[in-house]
Amino acid sequence: MEIPSVYLERTVEQFASLPGIGRKTAMRLVLHLLRRERQDVEAFANTLNELVQNVRYCVDCHNISDEERCSICSNPSRDHTTICVVENVQDVMAIEATQQYRGVYHVLGGIISPMDGIGPQDLEILSLVERAREPEVQEIILALSPTMEGDTTCFYIYRRLADADVRVTTLARGVAQNDQLQYTDEVTLGRSIVDRRPFKGT
Ligand SMILES: [Zn+2]
Repeated sequence: MEIPSVYLERTVEQFASLPGIGRKTAMRLVLHLLRRERQDVEAFANTLNELVQNVRYCVDCHNISDEERCSICSNPSRDHTTICVVENVQDVMAIEATQQYRGVYHVLGGIISPMDGIGPQDLEILSLVERAREPEVQEIILALSPTMEGDTTCFYIYRRLADADVRVTTLARGVAQNDQLQYTDEVTLGRSIVDRRPFKGT
């Protein structure tokens, strides 16, 4: 496809670099933006700039935050004795949507996956082990997707927590095998976190 403008070409390339967006869709989106009011498009670009300049990660749980500490960690009415370990920020949102959990979180930033070259050192596991040693922490809930990579990651964390004085639990298996947590319906996910059970490390 011959593109008559280098600016158009560059923008299409940026959109096409997003997951699930092919070149045709990218072109349609960019042409749509060009037809909108100039100030709308500038606001769109400014929002992206503000996002990358201002968004941060919570120093305690690594959830996305506008402040040094996220709104969950800095909320005194949350139960800081219980830490729910999740793969990513979307999983925090999914569990929050169930309104069944009052503890705090720890976002790993991924999952152990040798196929993708992701090892324990690429994830926030060390910081979790350090948090688990804090005297107030009593329970660590391993809320990872029930896939092979999720199970591997749970087992690795379980072993790393062996000398920490905490109870390690995992979700009840209302979450179907191989389902991604963020796509599980709220009722099932809510029940799974309420009915959590001890993690068996064998
Ligand atoms: Zn936090």
